[in-house]
Amino acid sequence: MKLVLIADDSPSNREFLATIMEHEGWEVVEAGNGLEALVMAVQRTPDLVLLDIQMPGADGYATVVAMRQQIAMVGTPIFAITAYAMEGDLQKGLDAGFTGYLTKPLTRRRLLAAIGALS
Ligand SMILES: [Mg+2]
Repeated sequence: MKLVLIADDSPSNREFLATIMEHEGWEVVEAGNGLEALVMAVQRTPDLVLLDIQMPGADGYATVVAMRQQIAMVGTPIFAITAYAMEGDLQKGLDAGFTGYLTKPLTRRRLLAAIGALS
């Protein structure tokens, strides 16, 4: 079973994403902040990461940079989940190491389209 790590400081956002991914047959692990997400990523080596940008402590940008420093996660798809949709923010995210951007409010259709585009 493929494993997705969902990191968001909002429990309701995590639940929304987890429900969709579980329905698609993924195993889900959740983290409530960037540091927790990094620890979990190192421990579990997920196949996919959905990472909120705005989190207390290490935000999504800092977290993706740290994840990319892990050899096992160099090629892992890591998507930013964010309310930021400006072009400059998109470039900042790609520079930091994100595979792509998913803007809030996120829909099931857009999430699955982004994941489906990977294969
Ligand atoms: Mg947040």
